[in-house]
Amino acid sequence: MAYVVTRLCRDCVHTACVTVCPVECFYWPKQPDDRLPNQVYISPDECINCGACLPVCPWQAIYDQPDVPSKFHEDISLNQLCDKARKEFDQVKHMKEPDPTPQDVKDNKKKWGL
Ligand code: SF4
Ligand code: SF4
Repeated sequence: MAYVVTRLCRDCVHTACVTVCPVECFYWPKQPDDRLPNQVYISPDECINCGACLPVCPWQAIYDQPDVPSKFHEDISLNQLCDKARKEFDQVKHMKEPDPTPQDVKDNKKKWGL
């Protein structure tokens, strides 16, 4: 099983996750839309389950797949599209932005019903 990026990542351009991944398996949609929202995704085929990305995500958006909250289970299949529809994705380039505040993180979780 791979790690999964959930919707808590939507519109983040921090990409701290990308800098620590040893296998460069983060992708984002070439043309984000309602079907493939604007966030990063992890390729399940390439992820080696090292766990390095989880603690560095300032939005706490990454989960080991068994730990994905039930509210976010649809996001598991979105991450799988990295492998099933690779032509629709580009590999993520690092674009580090300032960290969110603890209140920003709390508000984002509330926005998504967590
Ligand atoms: S650091 Fe977290 S919120 Fe930002 S792009 Fe990576 S997974 Fe998404
Ligand atoms: S768990 Fe490791 S291999 Fe998988 S996406 Fe995170 S940093 Fe990359």
